[in-house]
Amino acid sequence: MSKYKISEYLIHTVPFIDKGDVQRVLYSTRTSSVKAISEYTWKLLNEEKFNLLPLEMVQELFDVKILVPIDENELKSIIQRNNQSIDKNGELYYIIQPTASCQLGCDYCGQVHSPQKLSDEHQEKIMNRLRSKLTNGNYTALKIGWFGAEPLSGLSVIKKMSPKLMELAKEFDCSYSAKMPTNGLLLNVETATLLFEECGFEAFEVTIDGTQAYHDNRRHTKSSKATFEKIFKNFLAVASEAKLSQLRLNVRCNVDRSNVDGVSPLIKLLAENKLQNRITFYVAPIHSWGNDAHLNSLSKLEFAEKELEWICELLEHGFHINLIPPQQPIVCFAVRKDSELVDPFGNLYNCSEASLVPNYGHEYMFGKLTGIDSTEKNNFLLNFNSEILQGLYDCNKCEMLPVCGGSCPKEWKEGRVPCPSSKFNIKTKLLLHYSKQYL
Ligand code: SF4
Ligand code: SF4
Repeated sequence: MSKYKISEYLIHTVPFIDKGDVQRVLYSTRTSSVKAISEYTWKLLNEEKFNLLPLEMVQELFDVKILVPIDENELKSIIQRNNQSIDKNGELYYIIQPTASCQLGCDYCGQVHSPQKLSDEHQEKIMNRLRSKLTNGNYTALKIGWFGAEPLSGLSVIKKMSPKLMELAKEFDCSYSAKMPTNGLLLNVETATLLFEECGFEAFEVTIDGTQAYHDNRRHTKSSKATFEKIFKNFLAVASEAKLSQLRLNVRCNVDRSNVDGVSPLIKLLAENKLQNRITFYVAPIHSWGNDAHLNSLSKLEFAEKELEWICELLEHGFHINLIPPQQPIVCFAVRKDSELVDPFGNLYNCSEASLVPNYGHEYMFGKLTGIDSTEKNNFLLNFNSEILQGLYDCNKCEMLPVCGGSCPKEWKEGRVPCPSSKFNIKTKLLLHYSKQYL
């Protein structure tokens, strides 16, 4: 009897002819490895005639976990790997919302904004909490996510806290880095330079929801004024500034039915401005933000199909795209014990999407900075991996689990299915990946 079996975490394309041979592309999601094999080999694999394959090939297939030990409980191995990665993770990732203010009034936003800024007292409490986490944990890196509302509206807080955070990281022999998702309205060269050179920033993600008309129709100011022109001008200036060439820039385009036609023109505009080698770009479906914004979203299948079109356009324009999903042992910050989000009022959250959203009430909040410094994260989202193992979500029988991680614990809790586009279009992505070598 064979000591191997084909992994349950194996995805294969349809057969195709290349250079006269019938082939298939295989993708082991347990290692993110891609391999083209002949149809004959595929047949032998499926008939479990591993002994008819060359020994080196069997070893190679075993190394990339296309073949696995016959008695392996793969789901258990994956969850074990995830839990170990979480436990051994050397990066302390912490999210701070410096202000509750945002200039924009985006149609799909579920937050309520106000001028509230993180107080001096709360800033100090954060430093104490971080010090305690760095003392008790085994960390080699401190990473801060500055989130909004619009984080640049709280620039004074960022400027004040960053040197202290950098000093704290140094004291514990940790590297330091910061990143920020921003609407881009205030991200001019001067501010980007200050944050890059003096505040440890390594990346910004600017949201642009299509070309001007599409973007302005939904990402306008609270008084309905257009924002595209200023944001795009800022973005181009930052992207072309030589001293900021090491700063990572990402464009995120949030999409639903009302702006889906604005993505292709935006890709063209980014290409015309020769940003192919400077930025990364991705499209995200609009999801519920404690509201019903998701009701105008494309279906999962529609989105997956459109995404393939956008990927082809990006490739044609010379953008670099990674078509193969990497491993995802840590699904998000919600499953990291020491990670938390502090809102501008000093409230502590176990998820990055729930603060400032009245519709969530206190569902994702687990404590306050003031008075209760010892507050620990509750198990509400923390135990997501164990819950997958218990079979609470469909992820326990999904071959994408190692590269998806379950996508979003909060979405599952709220009764929605958060599967990413790759679940639906991975086979075409594999074929594109294979054909890319000829482009
Ligand atoms: S639970 Fe979902 S929304 Fe919350 S941080 Fe994780 S991925 Fe984000
Ligand atoms: S979220 Fe969807 S694609 Fe991801 S592992 Fe769960 S079922 Fe699979």
